[in-house]
Amino acid sequence: MSETIFSKIIRKEIPANIVYEDDHCLAFHDVAPQAPTHVLVIPKKPIVNVDALESEDAALIGHLWMVIQKLARELNIAESGYRVVVNCGREGGQSVDHLHYHLLGGRPLAWPPG
Ligand code: AMP
Repeated sequence: MSETIFSKIIRKEIPANIVYEDDHCLAFHDVAPQAPTHVLVIPKKPIVNVDALESEDAALIGHLWMVIQKLARELNIAESGYRVVVNCGREGGQSVDHLHYHLLGGRPLAWPPG
C-alpha cells in the first residue's frame, strides 16, 4: 500500500485534531466537515479499503466499531442519531486510500446519499 496523508497523521508528521487514540486506531476531526460532528476513525494498520480486508482483520474491525460507539456517545450524537459511512473505491467516493470510517452527526442526514 502506498503512503497516504493518513499515514502521516498516524506518525504525527502532520497535525490533526485527534479525539481518540489507542494502539490500534486513531480518530480525528475531518478537515472538511460535512456535518456539525464529522470524525474519521482509522486503523493504524495500513489497509487500503474494505475490499482489501483479510479474515485476520476481523477483530480489528470489531474494535473500530466499538470505538465508533464510544465516540458517538462522547460527542453527544448517540441519542439524536448518527451515520457511519465507509467509501470504497473510485465510484464509492474514496479519495484517501487508507480505510476510514466517517462518523457523522449533529443534524438530520438525508437518504439516499448522492
Ligand atoms: P473519502 O472521500 O471517503 O476517502 O474521505 C476522505 C476524507 O478525508 C475527506 O472527508 C477529507 O475531508 C478528509 N481529509 C483529507 N485530508 C485530511 C486531513 N489532513 N485531516 C483530516 N481530514 C482529512
